[in-house]
Amino acid sequence: MHLQTRGLILKEQSIGERDKLITVLTEDRGVLRAFVRGAKAVKSKKQAATTKFCYAHLRLATTRDSYIVEEAQCIEQFFALRDNIEKLALAEYFLELGFVFAPPEEDAHELLRVLLNSMYMLANGKRPPLFLKAVTELRVLTISGYAPNLVACERCGTFETPTMYFDMEQGLLYCENCAPATAPFALPLGVVSAMRHIVFSPLRALYNFALDADLLEELSYITETCLLRQAQHTFKTLEFYRAVCMPQNKENTT
Ligand SMILES: [Zn+2]
Repeated sequence: MHLQTRGLILKEQSIGERDKLITVLTEDRGVLRAFVRGAKAVKSKKQAATTKFCYAHLRLATTRDSYIVEEAQCIEQFFALRDNIEKLALAEYFLELGFVFAPPEEDAHELLRVLLNSMYMLANGKRPPLFLKAVTELRVLTISGYAPNLVACERCGTFETPTMYFDMEQGLLYCENCAPATAPFALPLGVVSAMRHIVFSPLRALYNFALDADLLEELSYITETCLLRQAQHTFKTLEFYRAVCMPQNKENTT
C-alpha cells in the first residue's frame, strides 16, 4: 500500500549508521512515524526533505505496523527561523503542540494549516512572536474541541461588559454582574474580543487583528494556562521558550 500526503516533520531520530525515524504531522493521517532508509548517504535527496521543520510532499509505503518514506520533496523549510533564538524556540513549541494535539490516524488538515501559517508568519516577521503564540495555542485548543465557552456570560447571557471574568478551570466567561468566586480572573474587553476572534473566525481571517503589547501579554498568559490545563503534558519546548525569551527575562538582562 502507498500513501501520498503532505506533512510537517516534527522530530528526527537516528537509527543505526544510515537510517532515521521521523515523526510527521500529515494532512491525512495525523501524526505518524516513518523510516527513512539511507537518509545519511551523502547524496540522499530524502535527507533534506525529512529534516525537522520541513514541510514536504511524502510518498509512503505502508506495511502492517510501520511507514517507510519512499520519496520526499521539500515544499517549505522555514530557513529564516534559524536566525533568531526566540523564533526558533517558539517554532519548536509549535511542533510539540502538533505532536501532542494531533489525532493519530485521522484527518489533521486544519491543525497542520494553523501550525504552518504560524510558522510562516513567525519566520517572516509578519506578526509578533507573542501574538502568534497566543493565536496558535487557542486555535489548536479549538480545533481539538477544548475551546473555552466565550459566546456570552454563562449566567445571564450578556454579550459584553467593560470587564469580564474568566473561570480558567471550567473555561467559562461571566459578565461583571455575575462573576462567581470561581472566576476571579478579570479580563479587559479587548482580550475577550481577541479570544472570540481566535476561536470563531474562519481560518483565512485568523491572524487579522491587532492587540496592544500589555493586552497581548495577558492574552498569552490565558491561552497558555488554558492549554496547559487541557493538555496534561509538560511542554519542554515552552519551558525553553520562557527561559530564554519572555519579556521579563529580557528586562533582567538589559
Ligand atoms: Zn452575566
